[in-house]
Amino acid sequence: MQLDCYKRITNKYLLSAFMLKIAWSPVYCHPLPANHRFPMQKYELLPEQLLYEGTITPDNLFEPPPLPDAYITNTHTSAYWQRLESLQLSPAEQRRTGFPLSAALVHRETVIANGTVQAALFALQHGIGMNVAGGTHHAFTYKGEGFCLLNDIAIAANYLLQKGLSGKILVVDLDVHQGNRTAQIFGQNPKVFTFSMHGEKNYPMHKEHSNLDIALPDGTPDAVYLPLLEYNLKHLLQKVQPDFVFYLSGADVLQTDKLGRLALTPKGCRQRDEMVFAACRQNKIPVAVSMGGGYSPRLADIVETHANTFRVAQQLYF
Ligand SMILES: [Zn+2]
Repeated sequence: MQLDCYKRITNKYLLSAFMLKIAWSPVYCHPLPANHRFPMQKYELLPEQLLYEGTITPDNLFEPPPLPDAYITNTHTSAYWQRLESLQLSPAEQRRTGFPLSAALVHRETVIANGTVQAALFALQHGIGMNVAGGTHHAFTYKGEGFCLLNDIAIAANYLLQKGLSGKILVVDLDVHQGNRTAQIFGQNPKVFTFSMHGEKNYPMHKEHSNLDIALPDGTPDAVYLPLLEYNLKHLLQKVQPDFVFYLSGADVLQTDKLGRLALTPKGCRQRDEMVFAACRQNKIPVAVSMGGGYSPRLADIVETHANTFRVAQQLYF
């Protein structure tokens, strides 16, 4: 009897020791005014779909607590964080973020930022860790913009560097919009190499300099996108020699995206994810994944594309 019990615990431990850990919280799906253009519902539908189809079980999900202030101000200015936390942003500043400011929204952002930090810590143990949200790469150190209030990848990268858990980080930003503020935040930091592949005519109109930018013309299809990515990933892993990768997987590269301007198919998006994960896995580099934007008119297209990122991760790693 005792032995059986021990076995069960051991098995459970073994199961949970090597499993895909995914940051998610009910607060990710934040209530917005009616007809708001941000597809907030995806943060509820995506885990629901993954659970429903059996790609994940509830054990794969973990709920991050809010990130302590000290890890927010390792990236953002104290002045900005204090104004954000005390809901002091001006109406114009709030408009630039795209979201009405509230204590619940700020709480959500700190939970999501910690989701990326915790996903990175799981990645160090399991090879990969994921966040259902994040990818808020337009957040400046001192202000928010374009649905981004806190820069989750910059915060998590600084966390790893500060704790001595990584010495060289590669950010692979494959959202259709340039990872402008992540590039700017790490512009003078030789320990973080920023790579952004994005639409050249997309927001932000003023691009920052990533360590490597690939600006793609409107209508770029799978047949151009995928070989370019494959070549550059291979080259970068050799040149940068990172010991950690942050991957921003945007669903707004899809042909159906209303803001994206590129022309990737759902299959092409899936191949993109496979390429990144396979490269990290082959080179034994842990990868933390944040989901980026997705603005296809049909919510199902967005959810399906994001879901593929999780399906591919499960297949390749576990
Ligand atoms: Zn985007």
